[in-house]
Amino acid sequence: MPTTQPTPNGSGRNDSGWSKCPPGALVATGARLRSAERGRRLRAATLGASLCGTLAVCVALGLLWSDRSAVKEIVCSACTPRFAQYAAHLQGAPMDAAEAAAVAHHLSYCPLCRPKFQQQYPGLLTEASRERHPHYPLAQNAILGK
Ligand SMILES: [Zn+2]
Repeated sequence: MPTTQPTPNGSGRNDSGWSKCPPGALVATGARLRSAERGRRLRAATLGASLCGTLAVCVALGLLWSDRSAVKEIVCSACTPRFAQYAAHLQGAPMDAAEAAAVAHHLSYCPLCRPKFQQQYPGLLTEASRERHPHYPLAQNAILGK
């Protein structure tokens, strides 16, 4: 019957094929495992931080976008009928805030409505109310003489 008990024979080997650990081997293995675990934790933390950063950027962009689209976009045919009401509003008359914002936004970039409004109600639109619009920059420059 073969023996399964370790039987040291002087060379550090026994019948099971296992050998004695050299001094310090267990300590070194423990240090290596702890170091690997630290590396894993560091990578996980780095990944978590970068995910948080990405999420923060997405949230910020989302807020920016929702801010921009908070003003209702209207087309020229919806803007021109509101000229008189908006002109009165600029002079102090009450107007639905969302509607006034939509007209103001449209007039700020539309190369057709802005000159028309300025012709009908000269001096009411200020230079500050003009803004660039990504869809119209060239036409806007040509029509507004910039
Ligand atoms: Zn327009």
